[in-house]
Amino acid sequence: MIVPPLATIGIIGGGQLGRMLAVSAAQLGYLCHIYAPDERSPAAEVSSLWTRADYDDADALNRFAQSVDVITYEFENIPAGPIVALTNTQTVAPNPEALAIAQDRALEKAFVESVGARTALWAKVDSLEDLQAAINKVGMPAILKTRRDGYDGKGQSHLQTANDAEAAWAAIGAKPAILEGFVHFEREYSIIIARGRDGSIVSWDPAENEHDQGILATSTVPAHPDIIDQIHTALTLARSIAEQLDYVGVLTLEFFAGADGPIFNEMAPRVHNSGHWTIEGAVTSQFENHIRAICGLPLGSTALVGSSAIMQNLIGQDANDWAHILSNPNARLHLYGKRVPRPGRKMGHVTTVG
Ligand code: AMP
Repeated sequence: MIVPPLATIGIIGGGQLGRMLAVSAAQLGYLCHIYAPDERSPAAEVSSLWTRADYDDADALNRFAQSVDVITYEFENIPAGPIVALTNTQTVAPNPEALAIAQDRALEKAFVESVGARTALWAKVDSLEDLQAAINKVGMPAILKTRRDGYDGKGQSHLQTANDAEAAWAAIGAKPAILEGFVHFEREYSIIIARGRDGSIVSWDPAENEHDQGILATSTVPAHPDIIDQIHTALTLARSIAEQLDYVGVLTLEFFAGADGPIFNEMAPRVHNSGHWTIEGAVTSQFENHIRAICGLPLGSTALVGSSAIMQNLIGQDANDWAHILSNPNARLHLYGKRVPRPGRKMGHVTTVG
């Protein structure tokens, strides 16, 4: 199936990832139709069409599906059921199976283990009693994470000792969760690949990622040699996952660099913040290759254009520094058009290619 230029791409989710997808789509001559419930949408501001409706509004979703030529999503915390229903009448990529797996930490961990990934010790937790049993299995310290709807460190609570159990369970709102052993890692990184409709796979250089309070702060390429040493294993795993899911589009896997190889942390069935550097730092960006993949076009080269790239997120008030950032002629500034710089909110990013 080829969706040629001039066609309309439907994007579910209205954030900055949708915005950068829409800009890449426009470069290739496509129109975009954004579907998002929010009052304002960074993606809709750069797209020709916008449906503002809830993610579970079946009528609105159907009308949206009929107005586009292919559907993708930029946000995984959307109900999978209505998206599955859309596949009866429209092409959805990546397929909703990948979405259903990635939006539930327990399903995701069990799935990647079945494909051969190593994860931190973990256990399902549906009650305070489960949590006590999980502590015995996983050990301390550990992190309690909600199974669904967690992102940027939200829905997580750290336990230092078993005495923290009750407080941690309350802190995540007593929701279905997993307890995950704390990994003492030196570095963490992400693998981003794109798989086309013809099964071809390309991958970008792994980015070494630093987080601050659970939120991505910087991504650096090339990564430290310790990471490069284990890339082959991580990439093989990413390819297996994509093939197993008959995945089409960009897929991201996050890993901790363990002493004995990659330890899987989580996956995202979409373009990813740790791949923003590819806009200026690679021949073809993650956004463009996602559009190419879902439209059935050949994938572009993922080679580095310089010797290195550093992407720094602009969180909250950081974005107010835009004038200073622009005084560095090599800094490539991206602002997402968000009006309110709340603490922890991703307002933009800046990439420097070396
Ligand atoms: P997550 O939302 O699960 O990706 O967590 C956000 C960040 O918290 C990760 O990128 C790590 O820096 C840290 N983190 C998450 N899980 C663990 C873990 N099991 N052990 C140590 N650090 C973790």
